Amino acid sequence: MTVAPPASYRRAAVPEAAIQLKRVAAGYDGTLAIDAVDLEVRSGEMVALVGANGSGKSTLLKTIVGLLRPRHGEVRVLGGEPQAARPRMSYLPQQEHVRWDFPLTVESVVLMGRIGRLGLGRPPRPADRRDAAAALARVDAEYLRRRPVTDLSGGERQRVLLARALFADPEILLLDEPATGVDPTTEEQLMAVLEEETARGRTVLVATHDLASVMAHFARVVCMNRGIVAQGDVSILRDDAVLRATYGGHRVEPNLMADEHHA
Ligand code: ADP
Ligand code: MG
Repeated sequence: MTVAPPASYRRAAVPEAAIQLKRVAAGYDGTLAIDAVDLEVRSGEMVALVGANGSGKSTLLKTIVGLLRPRHGEVRVLGGEPQAARPRMSYLPQQEHVRWDFPLTVESVVLMGRIGRLGLGRPPRPADRRDAAAALARVDAEYLRRRPVTDLSGGERQRVLLARALFADPEILLLDEPATGVDPTTEEQLMAVLEEETARGRTVLVATHDLASVMAHFARVVCMNRGIVAQGDVSILRDDAVLRATYGGHRVEPNLMADEHHA
């Protein structure tokens, strides 16, 4: 048993991480998609999550947002439960999980970014519309403001979703593959905006497949393969052993190897 120091001492000595996971396991139905995840993201850090399809990147983000409850372990966001921190986070889901077949304008979609704070039902005020236009301008998408979202290209959709996330003015931005399916120019724009947001003190965690972009824009990377297999400065992506652990097939579980039915 450990004895906790007084809270005032803890705060002075170790600033609370923006995101902290301890031995977290999470998954769907009977199966675990991530296991034994220890992760700390400090305030104002820009961190990339990489890994093959199915490695658990989206699962990890959903667990941090509080959409998925951990099966084991502890998740703390901004010093409390994910649910309590929800209004202070913006989450951009993976594109294929977003429905685009509803008849809304781009502006309405951006305005929905603040629904949690405005309280449902309050009509937008001129200041809200100004802020929404400013958020769209940050991602060069102001010209889309009155367009129906059904008409947008993949790159335009990602810019609108990022504008919605920025409009919410969150302390933490969690983005699931914001650059997948967008052209290289848009990807560079998105990354530049994320770097600016980090410089302004926001905490940014991004799942991505683009390792070159990670090397160019991020300070720290977390490599996933059903759990975290490596994390550190982005230079670890030059290490063959790290890349093999991340992308070189599934980890072999010792308990499966010992099971005679799998021999
Ligand atoms: P990634 O984002 O790295 O591609 P995911 O976190 O989406 O990985 O998926 C991790 C594992 O969890 C995969 O095996 C995937 O099939 C499974 N999975 C993801 N979402 C669901 C779901 N809604 N129901 C059941 N299994 C899921
Ligand atoms: Mg995913």
